[in-house]
Amino acid sequence: MLETFGWNTFFENSFRNHFPEDFTVGRIALEHKERYELYTSIGEVWGEISGKLRYTAVGRTDFPAVGDWVVIDLRPQERSATIHAVLPRKTKFSRKVAGIEAEEQIVAANVDKVFIVNGLDGDFSPRRIERYLLLTRESGAEPIIVLNKTDIASDLDNQIQAIKTIAQTIPVITLSATHDDTPSRFLPWLHMNETAVFMGSSGVGKSTIINALIGRDYLKTQEVRTVDSLGKHTTTHRELIKLASGALVIDTPGMRELQLWASEEGLNQTFSDIEALASQCRFSDCRHDQEPGCAVKAALENGTLDEKRYKNYCKMLRELRYLELRQDSNAARLEKMKWKKIHAAFKKNNKRK
Ligand code: GDP
Ligand code: ZN
Repeated sequence: MLETFGWNTFFENSFRNHFPEDFTVGRIALEHKERYELYTSIGEVWGEISGKLRYTAVGRTDFPAVGDWVVIDLRPQERSATIHAVLPRKTKFSRKVAGIEAEEQIVAANVDKVFIVNGLDGDFSPRRIERYLLLTRESGAEPIIVLNKTDIASDLDNQIQAIKTIAQTIPVITLSATHDDTPSRFLPWLHMNETAVFMGSSGVGKSTIINALIGRDYLKTQEVRTVDSLGKHTTTHRELIKLASGALVIDTPGMRELQLWASEEGLNQTFSDIEALASQCRFSDCRHDQEPGCAVKAALENGTLDEKRYKNYCKMLRELRYLELRQDSNAARLEKMKWKKIHAAFKKNNKRK
């Protein structure tokens, strides 16, 4: 039963090795005002995190994210649960939180595939796709590029060619979600019990695609009624959705900013063509600037390396180096907070004696 929500031996092993028999597990379908809707062996229930988890959590990533498997104490009669722990994640698609803080925010956890959606209209942007490719590489999931709106493409052949050169071996789907038979186009990529997430700027057609995959009125089937802390009824919708085909899909809320949360290593793997050129430079510490025997400069000059692609690589490299500096100070801050909590807990325990 849980297998149909993506449960597998990876999660089973960490659960069985660390938690007693009377606990069970659930998967986060939605977070709404610190309450979580979960898929469990008895269906959907609402969960809240335990005091202990709240107390020991120091960073955002210690809290559950959509797609996470969590260890729960289930109350079947009330259809509610207490969340005690987040199981280790198999993959996680993260970005840096909006604003200046150098903290990680998990957009979707335990995804197998990331569909990077881009429109072929005025918003077409190979550079944005490169950005998503870096974050997907970092996530551990498999990327698939989706070029939507072929019906209103400004220059289809050249656009597809531009993406094929950056995609290398990554699959590319081109379609018009409003004109084509969308489910059949995704069929080869959406497997039973696997989880896929759709990423891309607002307006590229993610909801249109997901609606077509669900095949029914999306909002109606996914609506969840909730009661907030003031007793007011609100409706929202689930983000982790099970399709009739057995595949699971995560529909992320629109993201205005996509700030990088990645490593330099991930960047070099994403731009393996640039990495390969750099390894041919005469000097191993070549900055591809004025040095003689620079293979990157030579490739830019003879056109084998696209200047816009190289500039985007340099821009992201600068961003990552800046992020790294800030991460160090943030890590120190979180460590301090953790010790403060441990210290406070210790004092409280001693008082009791
Ligand atoms: P989202 O913000 O990524 O979820 O994008 P939506 O699915 O809401 O789509 C934004 C707009 O683009 C809507 O008006 C859609 O009808 C339209 N749209 C989506 N796919 C296509 C397509 O293939 N062709 C055209 N012409 N319009 C599309
Ligand atoms: Zn060089």
